[in-house]
Amino acid sequence: MNCKLTDKSNSLGAKSGKLPPWLHRRLPADTSFQRTERILGSLGLETICSNANCPNRGQCWARGTATVLIMGNICTRNCKFCSVATGKPGPTDRDEPSRLARMVEQMRLKYLVITSVNRDDLPDGGAGHFRDCIDEVRRRRPDVKFEILTPDFRDRQAQAIEILGQCLPFVFAHNVETVPSLYRTARMGGDYQRSLNLLRMAKYSYGDINTKSSIMLGLGETDAEVCQVLENLRSVGCDRITIGQYLKPSKNSLDVVEYVTPARFDWWKQKALGLGFSWVISGPFARSSYFAERDETP
Ligand code: SF4
Repeated sequence: MNCKLTDKSNSLGAKSGKLPPWLHRRLPADTSFQRTERILGSLGLETICSNANCPNRGQCWARGTATVLIMGNICTRNCKFCSVATGKPGPTDRDEPSRLARMVEQMRLKYLVITSVNRDDLPDGGAGHFRDCIDEVRRRRPDVKFEILTPDFRDRQAQAIEILGQCLPFVFAHNVETVPSLYRTARMGGDYQRSLNLLRMAKYSYGDINTKSSIMLGLGETDAEVCQVLENLRSVGCDRITIGQYLKPSKNSLDVVEYVTPARFDWWKQKALGLGFSWVISGPFARSSYFAERDETP
């Protein structure tokens, strides 16, 4: 299967400023959504759903799922695709693991996705806090499965991998986010090889664990570059992938270059499955934690 885009109707330029019809979505305002909102608010927990203005918040929260953002909502990096605030974060909250456990109990979760901002200010990059959160939830709810979506841990990868090995999650995820040629504009402070290396270390240090990554389309990448990323991810043993549409989350974020059609996302799904990924979500609204709890490729 080659990656050439032969049919230009497979994408739509974003210059008009209008969203294509397949990206129009109504927000459900039902009681399940409000219940999730109330539990998170009462426990003082942050989510990436809110901090990144995720378009799936209505749907996910109404389904009783949310992705918790630990270690605060101030990031030490300044990625241009992301709306999370940049600055100097405060100390980690020692009570957060316990509040997280209460959230799991109140929401009766069986699958929990935890992510964090980059914490380049911490000696272990925040790996110890991930472990403490998992340990505390497991102590109270041993049957919960965990998916952690981590930063790249910069030059502390070996230390972080060792710490996280003490609390093995079901899925270890780290997002490459975009193609390497766009790192300078979209992901300053990130390093493509470093991200691949973290996924490789997780896969080969933790044995049977599932590893996962995500890429956004619509930032100006070429199809050949996307193919290369998928191949690179498979070469480091990455099992799971989500492929979604980049949507500008705030007025200071990068503009969308193109909108990829649902049909083209289906094509990418087949491509990823053909390369050997065992679990793939590819679609305009696909995000790293979207339907993460599903066992099979949705
Ligand atoms: S896709 Fe993930 S980040 Fe977005 S609303 Fe759902 S759980 Fe939250």
